[in-house]
Amino acid sequence: MIRINNNFNRLSESYLFSTIGRRVREFEESNPNVRIIKMGIGDVTLPLCSAAVHELVIASQEQGSITSFCGYGPEQGHQFLIEAIIENDYLPRGIKLHNNEVFISDGAKSDIGNIGDILSVDNVVAVTDPVYPVYYDTNVMAGRRIIKLPCLETDNFIPHLPKEIPNIIYLCYPNNPTGIAMTRDQLAVWVDFARQNKSLILFDSAYEAYITSNDVPHSIYEIDGARECAIEFRSFSKTAGFTGLRCGYTIVPLELKAIDADGHMASLNALWRRRQTTKFNGASYVVQRAATAVLSGKGRQQVRQCIDYYMHNAEILRRGLAEVGLSSYGGIDSPYLWVKAPGGMSSWEFFDRLLTDCHVVGTPGVGFGDAGEGFLRLTAFNSCENTLEAVNRLKSFSI
Ligand code: PLP
Repeated sequence: MIRINNNFNRLSESYLFSTIGRRVREFEESNPNVRIIKMGIGDVTLPLCSAAVHELVIASQEQGSITSFCGYGPEQGHQFLIEAIIENDYLPRGIKLHNNEVFISDGAKSDIGNIGDILSVDNVVAVTDPVYPVYYDTNVMAGRRIIKLPCLETDNFIPHLPKEIPNIIYLCYPNNPTGIAMTRDQLAVWVDFARQNKSLILFDSAYEAYITSNDVPHSIYEIDGARECAIEFRSFSKTAGFTGLRCGYTIVPLELKAIDADGHMASLNALWRRRQTTKFNGASYVVQRAATAVLSGKGRQQVRQCIDYYMHNAEILRRGLAEVGLSSYGGIDSPYLWVKAPGGMSSWEFFDRLLTDCHVVGTPGVGFGDAGEGFLRLTAFNSCENTLEAVNRLKSFSI
């Protein structure tokens, strides 16, 4: 008989979004005249910027001509996009990268999931709690032992260094779901810890474009020594509305080394290149052209307007929640607000009350991990009109 990877039996079934969907549907069925505002969604709502759309059209037309048709590209990505990334996303922050340290992909989620291919299953992994579930579940699938790092309100949701030393540490800042960002000093503590203990940090900066605070780093490589201990994942999804188009990239510095079973040092950059050239045939050419257009002067200006729009929503939410006496965190360097359920309510009780009293839908924090109990995530990705209306409705909320 064929055997399955039994680790899949160890995954806990995620009922979070299906349960939310069911409860909302049931409420809608018994209250057909009510308009529900969904503030739980983690997807963007504004369309692609015109610079990206224009380039998609041009690049698609090129594909229809014998003189400009482009088939398989380099697995690591086209040089035009790699150079645009280095010049626009890193050099202005004083970070120098070699072209062969940048790997273009079809999104951060795939790279975050696939990176485990080059790392032994014997590594002990640390993830925050609450957490973006991909870090946790992909390691359960691989059969790695996982240490949880609780992120508590009393610590402003910044995790403490673990007592047991992990080999791999996932950090996501600005954070999904808490919306909290790490300052340079706070991140430097983790970089120092990783260097001292020869651990690897997998740093997810999918939300770096939302940072507004000066003391918050956009890249982990702004921290001294990070090139020796960190891989960084980035995405065009939340930066430029590419959630449907799909494009991301991963930085694997040439200095990064890990040990093999014979005690020899191996380059993680070389291993990731080997993994990608074997299992991946590159992101779509047309999409890479659109991503390059996002990084042009015009494109940057246009996507900035979208991000400012969402961050204006975040500000409306933050102020609105404070006005009605609800404590919330985040929303300054990220599009997420982490709202404390009042009166000791559980995440799900708060979810139900917001749905029935205000017709507003959030995401129960406990769905992101046990330490998320008692919180609820709201996002700034809705329209400004709906955000204002949601805040207005919150005024009728009482414990
Ligand atoms: N990382 C985090 C923290 C996210 O919240 C998301 C998407 O919600 C991703 C990565 C996925 O990015 P992509 O759309 O590029 O796969």
